[in-house]
Amino acid sequence: MTAVQPTPKHQKSKALKPGSRPPAKELCSECGLCDTYYIHYVKEACAFLNQQIATLEESAHGLSRNLDNPDEVYFGVHQQMMAARKQEPIPGAQWTGIVSTIACEMLDRGLVEGVVCVQNTPEDRFGPMPILARTKEEILAAKVNKPTLSPNLSVLEQVEQSGMKRLLVIGVGCQIQALRAVQKELGLEKLYILGTPCVDNVSREGLQKFLETTSKSPETVVHYEFMQDFRIHFKHEDGSIEKVPFFGLNTKELKDIFAPSCLSCFDYVNSLADLVVGYMGAPYGWQWIVVRNQTGQEMLDLVTEQLETQPVMSRGDRRAAVQQSIPAYDKAVTLPMWAAKLMGVAIERIGPKGLEYARFSIDSHFTRNYLYVKRNYPEKLEAHVPEFAKQIVSQYQLPES
Ligand code: FAD
Ligand code: SF4
Repeated sequence: MTAVQPTPKHQKSKALKPGSRPPAKELCSECGLCDTYYIHYVKEACAFLNQQIATLEESAHGLSRNLDNPDEVYFGVHQQMMAARKQEPIPGAQWTGIVSTIACEMLDRGLVEGVVCVQNTPEDRFGPMPILARTKEEILAAKVNKPTLSPNLSVLEQVEQSGMKRLLVIGVGCQIQALRAVQKELGLEKLYILGTPCVDNVSREGLQKFLETTSKSPETVVHYEFMQDFRIHFKHEDGSIEKVPFFGLNTKELKDIFAPSCLSCFDYVNSLADLVVGYMGAPYGWQWIVVRNQTGQEMLDLVTEQLETQPVMSRGDRRAAVQQSIPAYDKAVTLPMWAAKLMGVAIERIGPKGLEYARFSIDSHFTRNYLYVKRNYPEKLEAHVPEFAKQIVSQYQLPES
């Protein structure tokens, strides 16, 4: 006689009704957890209600980051980092398609039965539509960034109901923090997590404002990226690339488009994924890979023969540029376009490269976000800002208020 399993307690909880105020209120990043009965665990799991990166690092990787090791302070627990690109890039992927390729291989070789990823809605190329993919075609249809808040975890109920035991989840830091916190409740034998870095995300309306304020042809943009050459590269439907220097952005107009969740996030590098694929620690044109643990190494091993790789490098000194950016951001300084272009060219020549560029981006965002939390949620500051971020921010002089 088989014993009847009791119903897990979370299954009795009810997902948040559409339009209701989420538990993290305006700080909610719409990660999707509260669209499922796993809302049961929200107080503990939500990245904005209970920052617990160090504890989750320990359960995910066996140890939390060593605060005496500068590379770990910046990039999190890792076994190795490298720069890589696909020998044959996937057309239409965000970069060369390493993320989609790993996901396809994992499904193909039977390591997983399904992949959580995000396609776009039929009516909007940037409208996020999370799915539980079971075929390579579905994974490939999720390639390219949907540069908006995306409720990737909203498909978690489907995972449990499908009886799936081996799963890959692709996601950004806030999604992965909540996922790690509920991981043991999902009834899985094995969970693989493939993360990307993430910063300055926006709602769909915020994205529209950004495109309309910054691009000459917002309606034809199919893809964009804040590149290591200090320019935003917009790719248009006809294949043309429009480049806009960071320093020419209309900061005054754009200051309030970023989601409050992203202005108070300190998990830029996706600390809890097994493997992270981004670009900011790699030379221009290459992707940046951070292997956090043995599971991440196994995932990367599946595709190494399809990759060209090189060691990570680091050049320049970011610190003066970061210090100057702090009051400039506060005052919403916008340079005229000719000056912005000149500055872009100069900084590209002498500015930080490789890992130093990644540190530049982390420092600029962490100082800005620290000030945002201090000014808007002073009561949360101590517990919400992780120790590694406090260490990074303490290198700079911040305004008193
Ligand atoms: P592809 O093969 O094109 O696959 C992209 C994958 O991303 C797909 O599987 C899709 O499911 C997933 N995805 C798309 N949109 C979202 C979303 N909104 N939320 C969760 N998952 C999503 N890298 C950096 O180094 N620095 C950054 O500042 C940075 N910012 C980013 C901001 C956002 C919002 C996102 C989604 C990614 C960001 N990245 C950043 C990662 C980088 O842009 C690429 O996504 C990464 O290098 C993978 O490229 P690829 O060609 O291998 O991906
Ligand atoms: Fe819920 Fe995620 Fe929003 Fe937190 S961020 S309130 S877990 S949907």
